[in-house]
Formats: sequence, structure tokens, C-alpha cells
Amino acid sequence: MDAVTITSWMREVEIAVRRDKDHLVQLDAAIGDGDHGTNMTRGFEAVVQALDADGGSPPGKLLILAGRTLVSTVGGASGPLWGSALRNGGRVLGDQATFDGAQLVEVLAAALASVKDLGTATVGDKTMVDALEPAVDTLRARLADGAPIDHALDDAAGAAESGMRATIPLQARKGRASYLGERSVGHQDPGATSTALILRALQKAVAGTV
Ligand code: ADP
Ligand code: MG
Repeated sequence: MDAVTITSWMREVEIAVRRDKDHLVQLDAAIGDGDHGTNMTRGFEAVVQALDADGGSPPGKLLILAGRTLVSTVGGASGPLWGSALRNGGRVLGDQATFDGAQLVEVLAAALASVKDLGTATVGDKTMVDALEPAVDTLRARLADGAPIDHALDDAAGAAESGMRATIPLQARKGRASYLGERSVGHQDPGATSTALILRALQKAVAGTV
């Protein structure tokens, strides 16, 4: 995997969040302020533009650029959270031109650590962590079992989707939705939903480049 994997990933994310923008807005309107779909679409449109303007940076530097772009274009909680996640993930790769599955696990683990540091959420708090953490754990476990990267990523994206659905019965303990207390129960978390899209986009990007 290389720089093309990262640009394909970010393009797939932009397509997915734009396609599901209204759904993300509706989910956030139910337990937040209704801006999640527009936040993510604006952010990833800017990311794709920034990557298009880049002249041949290595994959880690592209992730750092993507993260910086999200922080500067998305005002909501998801901008700084995903922004720092991609920046810290990118740092893992330094200046190397290519990376393997084990290094991709470390990128995603650093991204998860950064979301948890910044937002202080753990699994069960009804946030993006509920989708991201099982995805990272599944990717690591499947690769350790000897699964090929495309299969391992398919399972990781599936784990993110399960984690996303598992947020429905939870009461939010972090972010804007936590202000609703028990009224947040029965709604799928918007950030976990876009996180599942981001993991599915990664699976598609890698399937197209390995
Ligand atoms: P805002 O809540 O500022 O309007 P968004 O609507 O873009 O921002 O994003 C909301 C999502 O951000 C939530 O659904 C949740 O998944 C995620 N989120 C909010 N606070 C946290 C946190 N402290 N830790 C992890 N994720 C969080
Ligand atoms: Mg919002």
C-alpha cells in the first residue's frame, strides 16, 4: 500500500459522506444539533481538494495533511477528533513510501488513541469510539491469524458497522448527545455511523489497490 491507497481512501470517504449526508444530518438532529452530515461532507471535500493539490507526498504526510485540513474546516466535535486521529495516524508512517498491514494497524491504533485522549470516551459511551475500537481490534486479530489484508479489512469494517448499530440502545455519556440523558437512548450515534463509513471506505480503497 502507498500514497495512492491514502488518496483513494479519502476519495471514498468523501463520496460516502456526501451520499449519506442527509442520513447523518437526521441522526444528529435526533440527539445533537443536526450538523454532522454537513460537517463531514465539507471536511472531506476540503481534504480531497488538498490532496489533489499535493505534489507527491508520501502516505504518512498525506494523512497529516488530511488531518490538518479537517481541523481547519470542521467546527463540530468530529473535525478536531478525526483531524487529530489522521494526523497522529500519519506520523506513524514517517516518510516511508509504502506500508504493510501491520503498519496500517499501527496507524489506526494511533488514530484511536488520539480520539480517546482528546475526547476521553471509551467503548459504550455512544461515540465514534464504539465503531473505531472494534475495527482496530478486529483488523489486528485477523492479520495475526494470517488473513490477507483485504479480508481483514472487510471484517474490520463489519466490526465498525456492528459497533455503530450497538450504539442504538446506549445512553450517551460524551459529546452533545450526553446533554439529553436518557432521551439519547434508541438513536444511532452519528459519529459512529460516519466512522463505519470511513472504515468501509478504507476496505474499498485497499481492495482497489492491492
Ligand atoms: P458536534 O457534536 O460538535 O455538533 P458533530 O455533530 O460533527 O459535532 O459530531 C458528533 C459526533 O462526534 C457524535 O455523534 C460522537 O460520535 C462524536 N463525539 C462527540 N464528542 C465526542 C467525544 N468526547 N469523544 C468521541 N467522540 C465524540
Ligand atoms: Mg453536531
